[in-house]
Amino acid sequence: MLTRRPNLIIALSAALAVVFLALCVLVLWQMRNDAARRAQDGARNLALLIERDTARNLTLYDLSLQAVIEGMRLPDIAQLRPEVRQMVLFDRSASAEDVGAILVIDAEGNVVYDSRSLAPKHVSVADRDYFKVQRQSDAGLYVSGPFMPRRSGGSISIAMSRRLSRPDGSFAGVVVGTLRLNYFRKLFAGMNLGPKGSIALMRADGTLLMRRPYDEQRIGQPVIDAERFERAPSGTFYGQATIDGVWRWYAYRRIGDFPLIVDVAVSTDDIYAEWRHRAWVLGSIVGVLDIAIVAMSLLFAGQLRRRLDAEAELNVLARTDGLTRLGNRRAFDELGDAEWRACAGGRLPLAALLIDVDHFKGFNDLYGHAAGDDALLAVAHCIKEGLRRPTDHAVRYGGEEFVVLLPATEATGAMCVAESIRARVEALGVRNAASVHGVLTVSVGVASTTLRAFVELRALVDAADVALYAAKANGRNRIACDGAGPDGSPPSDSAVAAPARPHFDRAV
Ligand code: GH3
Ligand code: MG
Ligand code: MG
Repeated sequence: MLTRRPNLIIALSAALAVVFLALCVLVLWQMRNDAARRAQDGARNLALLIERDTARNLTLYDLSLQAVIEGMRLPDIAQLRPEVRQMVLFDRSASAEDVGAILVIDAEGNVVYDSRSLAPKHVSVADRDYFKVQRQSDAGLYVSGPFMPRRSGGSISIAMSRRLSRPDGSFAGVVVGTLRLNYFRKLFAGMNLGPKGSIALMRADGTLLMRRPYDEQRIGQPVIDAERFERAPSGTFYGQATIDGVWRWYAYRRIGDFPLIVDVAVSTDDIYAEWRHRAWVLGSIVGVLDIAIVAMSLLFAGQLRRRLDAEAELNVLARTDGLTRLGNRRAFDELGDAEWRACAGGRLPLAALLIDVDHFKGFNDLYGHAAGDDALLAVAHCIKEGLRRPTDHAVRYGGEEFVVLLPATEATGAMCVAESIRARVEALGVRNAASVHGVLTVSVGVASTTLRAFVELRALVDAADVALYAAKANGRNRIACDGAGPDGSPPSDSAVAAPARPHFDRAV
């Protein structure tokens, strides 16, 4: 069926192309979501890793501070020999790269003990926030903003302080430890995050402590949209960084119980870079495939259409008489069967006319075969002119004989048509010296199912042939009807006016 319906082929291949395209879009959409999910999971995991690592180290550091506070509560701590006191106070102090000295500061802000020196320098830290905050009230573990230590060779650090209180609760000073921010810089630098990713560590109040990519100018500055990180201990959001305008997907966490927040952010450019590349490749392949499918179907449909047109033309040619352009015998066989079935099924009358040119052999002999052909063309034209309904059919039955099938036509109507054809041919006035009538004429045999019952079309045509024979026998240039009255009058169902020059004959 498909091989005969070019439009269906185009429609099906277009649908196939659309399905491919839809599948491609679906797959790409899922790949995009997967890429985003992987990146988000990665960011969340990194944030968790940094949080755990940092929280563990800060807790250790805090424990060191608390050990010093315990040591300071010993009654004679000030009287101990410096070496012993050093052991008592700082033995449990964590020491690691980027971890600075732990200092004991008195109530005036002067350094009293130093974990790294038996003879601490006379330095005052009374102006530092980690001192002032604790002097005001016990702030628990306080994490300072970034500052540059006064010691020579120091690098930018933060401090963690705890308050020293006398037994009556009054302020006795602070224990403070410093941590170089370099620690975080190195930690962040080792993370694999994509070229546009960022990691930031900030205090809960929004002060930026460290950021990758590193920019010294920004350390200690407030993070403009810090409130986005304060909603929960951990969370995620999508946003544009104020610092560099890059859209990123953020995963943030609070570091343990410390007033610190870390955020890990992957840029959408990085997330979708690989996906974009794949989307281009896959999209191009499917696009080319789709174009190829549609182009091939158009090509195939075009060829099929041409073949079907040629077939149809051949079909028409095979059923057309080359000289008169009327249907030929094959057309009559097919058409006649169809009309017979249609009329028999609907119980409609069917009439047949058999038309034969009179003395045509003589005409040919006298005027030549070419003139004979012209005469046949003229007769065919008269027959076409004589037909009244679109359902009436005329065919060249063979030689100089024609058959006309008149569906839904009674005998009288059929005789009218026959007479009209006969009269038209005679009126042409084509000279025929071989005929007693002097001009080209035809005789017509008429048969109709309204006059007699026929078992098949063949019998109807045979009856018309018999009537034609009668017309010929009675002098030609006349019509004869199968079943006409004994006096040669029209059959009884006739309701039409007799032709101007009636030439009715009775069939045998
Ligand atoms: P009648 O009145 O009894 O029909 O006499 P007739 O001469 O017509 O007799 P017949 O039917 O035997 O002659 C048919 C002639 O028609 C024979 C043939 O020369 C001629 N004929 C048949 N087909 C063609 C054709 O295609 N072209 C031409 N020019 N003549 C044809
Ligand atoms: Mg004949
Ligand atoms: Mg003839």
